[in-house]
Amino acid sequence: MNYTEISKFTRDEIISQLPNSKWDVIIIGGGITGAGVALECVNRGWKTLLLDKCDFASGTSSKSSGMVHGGLRYLEQGNFKLVKEALKERYFLSKKLPELVKSNRFLFPIYNSWWMYLKVKLGVFLYDVFAGKFNLKNHFRLTKKQILEKYKLINPLNLKGGFIYSDCLVSDSHLVLSILSTAVQKGLALANYVKVSPPTKNNLYYELKWDDQVSKLSGKLNSKVVISCTGVWSNNFNLSKNKLIRPTKGVHIVIPYNRLQIPTSFVLPSNDGRILFANRMGDFLYIGTTDTDFQANYDKVYAESEDIKYILKKVNEIFPTINISPNDIISTWAGLRPLLDNDGNPSQLSREELIIDNEGYINMCGGKLTTYRCMAKKAIIKAEKYLGILNKPNKTIQLNSIYFINESLETQVENYLKTSMPLTLIDLMERRLNLYRFDENNGMDNIEFISEKMASYLGWSPSERKQQIINYKEYIKLNHDWALTI
Ligand SMILES: Cc1cc2nc3c(=O)[nH]c(=O)nc-3n(C[C@H](O)[C@H](O)[C@H](O)COP(=O)(O)OP(=O)(O)OC[C@H]3O[C@@H](n4cnc5c(N)ncnc54)[C@H](O)[C@@H]3O)c2cc1C
Repeated sequence: MNYTEISKFTRDEIISQLPNSKWDVIIIGGGITGAGVALECVNRGWKTLLLDKCDFASGTSSKSSGMVHGGLRYLEQGNFKLVKEALKERYFLSKKLPELVKSNRFLFPIYNSWWMYLKVKLGVFLYDVFAGKFNLKNHFRLTKKQILEKYKLINPLNLKGGFIYSDCLVSDSHLVLSILSTAVQKGLALANYVKVSPPTKNNLYYELKWDDQVSKLSGKLNSKVVISCTGVWSNNFNLSKNKLIRPTKGVHIVIPYNRLQIPTSFVLPSNDGRILFANRMGDFLYIGTTDTDFQANYDKVYAESEDIKYILKKVNEIFPTINISPNDIISTWAGLRPLLDNDGNPSQLSREELIIDNEGYINMCGGKLTTYRCMAKKAIIKAEKYLGILNKPNKTIQLNSIYFINESLETQVENYLKTSMPLTLIDLMERRLNLYRFDENNGMDNIEFISEKMASYLGWSPSERKQQIINYKEYIKLNHDWALTI
C-alpha cells in the first residue's frame, strides 16, 4: 500500500516529541473542519500539529446523514450562496474520492399541495442551474402513476407526483480519515485521545496544556497560531462572553433494506417543515434525521424514545402498509449540529460558518461536512497574516482514500490499524468497519476475531481485550436504551 503509516506506533513517537515543542499551527479537533484546515496548513509548508480529545471524527463528523450535497432545503431559506458553494464542493469530492463520495438518485415525492409541488419543481430546477458545469445529473419529473409503479409500498393518498434529483452519499468518518491521511503524507503530526486546554499568549507564542488520555502524560505546547475546530465544543474556546454555538440534535435509525425496498434514496417530506432522508447502505437503509435543541452533556448524545417515535411516525405515514416498528431497528446514532447561536426554529437555523480571529487564535464555528474545504481556505487566509506562505500551495492535491469496504474483513482490520490509528474496539467497529451500524448483530458475530487481531497488533493483554469487548457492548446498549421507554 502506498500509505504513510498512521498507527498507535506513530502516535507513541509523536507523543514523545510533544513536551515543550514549538509549532507554526496547532489545530484543536480532528473532525472534518480540523482535517480540512490541517491539509491546507501543511500544503503551505507550516509545521502543523492536530490533536483530538477523543478519536478522529468521533464528534459530529461521524454522526451526519452522510450526504455531500448542495442542500436543497437551504434554497427555501434563500441561502443561494451556500448552495452554490456546496454544489461545487460536491463535484470536487465526487471526482477526488470516487469510491467514497458517490452520486446517488433521490426521489422527492409531493403530497397534498400543488403549491408545494411548484416550490419543489423550482427548487430542483435551481439546484441544477446553480450546479452548472459541476452538475451530476439533471433532475426529472415522475407522475403519480410512475412513482407507484417503482415505489410499490408508498402511500398513494394525496400523492401529486414527484421529482428525481441527484446528490452524493459518503461515509463521513472515512472522509475525515482520508483527508487526515493525505495531510499526514504532507507532514502533519497528529494524535487522538489528547485533550487540549484553551491557549494563553506568552510573548510570540500561544501556550497550550495537553493531556494524553492514554499514557496519562501531560505538558505544555507552543504555537504561533492556534485554530480551534472543536465543533459544538467551540464555546469552551471562545474569548468573548457570547455563546457561539446552539447545538441541535439529529438522530438516525438503521433498518434492513428489504423492509422498504426503495430503488433510490428517498425524501420523506413532513408537515413540520423538516425533511427526512432514507439512504441505502448495502443491505440496510438509514433514515433521519430529527432536529431538536440540546442542552445536556455534549459527550453523551444518544437516541431517545421521542426521537425514534418521531422518525417511525414519518416513515409509517409514507409507507403505511408495512408498519416499521422499533423491532426493525438494528442501530441508531445521534449527533449534534454545531449551528451558530440564533433565535428561531432549529430547522431554520443557518448552516453557515463563523471564523473569529483573535490575533492568531482562530475559532471556527458552524459549517457543514460538504463545505469543509471552503471553510478551511477562509481560516488559512487569516493564519497567513501571522505565518506567511512558506510553500506555494499545490492546487491539485491527490486525496488518499482510507476506505477499504471491498476488502476481506481481515484485510480491512489490518489496513485500518496501520493507516488510521484506532485505539479502542469502538473506534474500529463504529468509525472504520461500520459494523456497529450496518450489521444485523452490530458486528458481534465477528467480535472475537476482530478483537484478537486488534489485541495482537496493539499488544493488549487478555484482560484488556475482554474489557474492550465489554466497553463495546456497553456502547451498543447506550445507543439502544431508547427501547426501554418506547
Ligand atoms: C444529524 C446530522 C446530520 C448532518 N448531515 C450532514 C450532511 O448530510 N451533510 C453535511 O454536509 N453536513 C451534515 N451535518 C453537519 C456536519 O456533520 C457538521 O457540520 C460537521 O461534521 C462538523 O464538523 P467539525 O469538525 O466542525 O466538528 P466535530 O466533528 O464535532 O469535531 C470537533 C472535534 O473537536 C474535538 N475536541 C473538542 N474539544 C476538544 C479539546 N478540548 N481538545 C481536543 N479536541 C477537542 C472533539 O473530540 C471533536 O472530534 C450533519 C450534522 C448532524 C448532527
